[in-house]
Amino acid sequence: MTNILVVIEIAKGKIMGITKECLTAAQKLSENLGKEVEGVILGQDISELALEATKYGIKKVHKIDDAQFAGINILHHTRTLEALINEVNPSVVIAGASLYGQEVIPRLAARFGSAMFASVKDITVEGDNLVGIHPLFEEKLLGTLSATKHQLNFVTILSGNNPEVEKDESLSGEIADFAPSISDSDKREAFVEEKIAKVSVDITKAKLVVAGGRGVGGKEKYSIIIDAAKELGGEVGASRAAVDADWVPYDHEVGQTGKTITPDFYIACGISGAIQHLVGMRNSKTIIAVNTDEEAPILDVAHYAIIADLHEVLPELLKKV
Ligand SMILES: Cc1cc2nc3c(=O)[nH]c(=O)nc-3n(C[C@H](O)[C@H](O)[C@H](O)COP(=O)(O)OP(=O)(O)OC[C@H]3O[C@@H](n4cnc5c(N)ncnc54)[C@H](O)[C@@H]3O)c2cc1C
Repeated sequence: MTNILVVIEIAKGKIMGITKECLTAAQKLSENLGKEVEGVILGQDISELALEATKYGIKKVHKIDDAQFAGINILHHTRTLEALINEVNPSVVIAGASLYGQEVIPRLAARFGSAMFASVKDITVEGDNLVGIHPLFEEKLLGTLSATKHQLNFVTILSGNNPEVEKDESLSGEIADFAPSISDSDKREAFVEEKIAKVSVDITKAKLVVAGGRGVGGKEKYSIIIDAAKELGGEVGASRAAVDADWVPYDHEVGQTGKTITPDFYIACGISGAIQHLVGMRNSKTIIAVNTDEEAPILDVAHYAIIADLHEVLPELLKKV
């Protein structure tokens, strides 16, 4: 068995952030296993993206460039990846725990009769084993998955746990074409159309998020959160209570049923810190909580707490900016 193979995901003509997070995890693993990182990219007219992938430290990119891959057809992708894995014989295959990764990677693991590290935060080596941490029950429990490193293993990595790998224009790598391999039985599934939901804002990329919860007290009053985010050069976040009350659109929701974010600063205003909210923001680098209740659970994860009325605190804070 040879190298680590990362499945490169594309959306809207760009390499996805989740792939760059997987590459960080793969680089760390490669140092421990003494193996190199290879990548596989599938799509149509993807030469530039394959070249870009080498700038992220991938030594060899397997390019499957074919009109049949213009859209995502899970069976076609699975079959072709199966053929590639048979040829390159990697020791570990890594993809993001995205909708795509969760569809394709378990199918491959089943076809190869291999171990599957599903939705892990990271993947490391302990002695003769690969070890992955899989969160359960909104991270109330962390399960440890382990399998011998001397076999082919499949891994999907959760977003928000590894920084995205930086692009380095000085890096270069080999690009190798690989022909698609699709059997007649795979043709029972056909790609029809891609519909991308309209998203008004992407808070997952924001460096600073000012988030408001039920404690804000109403839709009109929510302008204090929007103004603070604007003034501080960040984005607006929200608890589900604020979204359910229709004070702010769903795209801003943080948590289990919203977004998982890791900004440099997360300012939680009038948010109690229910576990379903915490799973979406607790890996933020600096958390500031503004809450009238000194026993609110958000304070357990906050680096700084201001126990006061947010309607008094935020105007004072903005005067200092
Ligand atoms: C299956 C499931 C999934 C869920 N997913 C999510 C999710 O993705 N995201 C999410 O957020 N929730 C989610 N929830 C809901 C979650 O359990 C909580 O109900 C919700 O997060 C509470 O929102 P909140 O903190 O804004 O409101 P509350 O819990 O009511 O807290 C309001 C807080 O504001 C404080 N406060 C009040 N007035 C002021 C003031 N003037 N100044 C400062 N502080 C003040 C209070 O002390 C309190 O701590 C989910 C629930 C379930 C069951």
